[in-house]
Amino acid sequence: MARYKDAKCRLCRREGMKLFLKGARCFTDKCAIERRNYPPGQHGLNRGKLTNFGVQLREKQKAKRIYGVVENQFRRAFARAEREKGVTGENLLRLLECRLDNVVHRLGFAASRRESRQMVAHGHYRVNGRKVTVPSFLVGVGDVVELRSSSKLAARVDDNLNAGRGGVPQWLELDVAQKRGTVRSLPLREDIQIPVQEQLIVELYSK
Ligand code: SF4
Repeated sequence: MARYKDAKCRLCRREGMKLFLKGARCFTDKCAIERRNYPPGQHGLNRGKLTNFGVQLREKQKAKRIYGVVENQFRRAFARAEREKGVTGENLLRLLECRLDNVVHRLGFAASRRESRQMVAHGHYRVNGRKVTVPSFLVGVGDVVELRSSSKLAARVDDNLNAGRGGVPQWLELDVAQKRGTVRSLPLREDIQIPVQEQLIVELYSK
């Protein structure tokens, strides 16, 4: 699967806000948003006003970049959100939030979604006792996510847990000693603290 491999900070500068793609660095004054908070590129400072389409597009790009998914994955998630009962935009965010790489990050095991994605892909986590290496795996209510006892990342996970950035959302339960998390319920919209107006994404894809 194609992945974005260029500079991560460019993505934050393009969206004009911190997307927290790099872990600890995002909390220091080395953050590119602290230093150069304008869009990247030769004409970054001279971009004009956004059209309606532009505003909708930026919201979609922001959501994709925060969760680290590519266009095809995002489209598939949207199609599934449309099929489910309820509000499509909220369904979409819930599906993205329930990805295993996001859950590992939300539990505090990884400093960024990029790190959690790599940890999952390299087989360091189990879900309900079975090794899962698919970052897009969707967790459900009652699922237990834990670091494998044989993992060599225990010290790194401890460091990330001690850093404790952001706290654990209430739809998840964390057992720090066992490095284990349980999904208590599916996240509601108010549990998902990402700065995205999902309705604009729905409008964009409904054209
Ligand atoms: Fe974004 Fe983090 Fe880079 Fe700052 S340091 S621009 S928050 S990825």
